[in-house]
Amino acid sequence: MSEGNIKIVVIGGGPGGYVAALRAARHGASVTLVEADLIGGTCLNRGCIPTKALLASAEALSRARAGQEYGFEVAGEIKPDFGRMMARKEGIVTRLRENVEALLKKAGVTVLRGRGSLAGPGKVAVEAADGSITTVETDKVILATGSEPFRLPTFDFAHPNILTSTEALALDEIPESLLIVGAGVIGCEFASFYSELGVKITMVEMLAQMLPLEDMRVAKQFQSTYRKRGINVMLKTKVESVSEYADDHVTVKLSDGSEISASKILVSVGRKPNSAGMGLDTVGVDVDPRGYVVVNDYLETTAPNVYAIGDLNGGILLAHVASYEAMIAVDNALAVDPAGRRARDLRSTPSCTYSHPEVASVGLSEDQAAEAGFTPVTGTYRFAALGKTMAMGEETGYVTIIADKETDAVLGASMMGAHVTDIIHEIAVAVQNGLTVRQLGDTIHAHPSVAEALMEAAHDVHGECVHIAKP
Ligand code: FAD
Repeated sequence: MSEGNIKIVVIGGGPGGYVAALRAARHGASVTLVEADLIGGTCLNRGCIPTKALLASAEALSRARAGQEYGFEVAGEIKPDFGRMMARKEGIVTRLRENVEALLKKAGVTVLRGRGSLAGPGKVAVEAADGSITTVETDKVILATGSEPFRLPTFDFAHPNILTSTEALALDEIPESLLIVGAGVIGCEFASFYSELGVKITMVEMLAQMLPLEDMRVAKQFQSTYRKRGINVMLKTKVESVSEYADDHVTVKLSDGSEISASKILVSVGRKPNSAGMGLDTVGVDVDPRGYVVVNDYLETTAPNVYAIGDLNGGILLAHVASYEAMIAVDNALAVDPAGRRARDLRSTPSCTYSHPEVASVGLSEDQAAEAGFTPVTGTYRFAALGKTMAMGEETGYVTIIADKETDAVLGASMMGAHVTDIIHEIAVAVQNGLTVRQLGDTIHAHPSVAEALMEAAHDVHGECVHIAKP
C-alpha cells in the first residue's frame, strides 16, 4: 500500500462521504471531512432511517389493530400518537448520528463544519456559517455532496402545504388528506405510512405504473394491495397547475381535466444533484446536462485526483451504492489494491421499497434478461403457501427468480411481501458470483423461514417444486 501520509479531503458527510472518510483513515491517510449541515447526510437525517422508523411505528399500529386475529384483545381505541412517533424517529436519528460522529472522532478524522468547494488543484475552501473561509491543501478530493429533492416548478414550495420528503418527515400533526405527486419508492413509502394513520391518500403518477423501476408484473400486484388499503392511485396522470392555495388545503388541476383538493401535497418526483457552487470549473470537473458529476468506472472525475461518489454522480441514487462507491474511490485514491484500480460493479445492487407490502428486486427482470440475449426461465413461490408467512399473518406476496435456461445462472429476482428487503441479499450474492439455480435450490434453507420461498422458487425453475404454488 502506498497511502503513507496522503492527504484526502472528503466533501459531504452522508453515507458516501462518512464511509469514505472512515475507510481512508483506516488505510492511514490524513483525512478531513467537510460537512455543511448534519453528519449522516440525507440517508440518516432525512431519508432511509427516519422513514424506516416511522414505517416501523405504522407496522406496530397495524399489528395492534389486528389483535383479534392474533388472539388478543386490546382495551380502548388504538390510535396513533403522532408526536410520540415523531419523537421516537428523532431519537433513533440522533443516536445513529452521534454514533457516526464518535466513529469519525475515534478514527482521527478532522471534521470541518461549513460549505466546501474546490479552489484550484489541491485546494479545498471551506466557508463556515460565520462567512470565514479556511483553505485546506490536499492530495486527493472525494466529492460526496449528494442530492436534494427536485422541486417541480408547478408548485410554490414556500407554501406550508407543499411538501418535499424532508417536510413530510417533520409534520406537527396528521393531515386529513395527502396528495402524493410521484409513485416512486419515496412516494410509496410515505403513502404506506400516512395511510396507516388514517390519512386519505391520492397518488398521481405520470407513468403507466407505480414503482417505475420495478418489473411491471410486481408493480401491478403492488398497486392492487394499495387499492385494497384504500389508497387512490392515478396512473398516466400529471398535475397541470395549482388552482388554489388555502390555509387548510391546496387544489390542483390534473391532466385529465379533473380537480382535486388535499390538506397537503407531497411532491416526490426525483432528486437534483448538489453540484452547484462547488468550484468544479476551477479544476475541470465536468457535469452532465442534469448537473450530475461525470465519472468513469473508477469513480474518477474529469479532473486528476478528484473522485465523485454517491448521488452526486447520478449512478444509482441509493445509500448502499454511495457507501460501496466510497470504498472503491478511496481504494483507488490511495492505490490500496496492488493489482490496480478497482472498477465499480453495480450488477447486484438490491433495490428495495420498505412499504407494506415490501418490494425488492436485484439483477435482471425477465424482460431485461430477454433483451440482454438470455433465454429467461422463472420460478415462483407464493407466501400464501409458506409456513412462516402464514404464521406471521403475512400471506400477501411472492418471490420470482429469473435464470438463464442455457447455463442455469441466476440472473435476478423480484419479490413482494414481508421481509423481502432482507432476503433479497441471497439472490444478490448469487447474481454477483454467478451461482446457478441448482446451487441455490440444493442449499438447505431453515424451516420455517421467509427465505425458504427462495429455495422453493429455485426448485420451481426446474419444475421440481413439491409444494407447487404459482400466483
Ligand atoms: P447525501 O446523503 O445526500 O449526503 C450529502 C451530504 O453532503 C449532506 O450531508 C449535505 O449536507 C452535504 N453537502 C452538500 N453540499 C455540501 C458542500 N458544498 N459542502 C459540505 N457539505 C455539503 N436510500 C436507500 O438506499 N435506502 C432507503 O431506504 C432510502 N430511503 C430514502 C428515503 C427518502 C425520503 C430519501 C429522500 C432518500 C432515501 N434514500 C434511500 C436515498 C439515500 O438517502 C441517498 O441515496 C443517500 O443519502 C446518498 O448518499 P450521499 O452520501 O451520496 O449523499
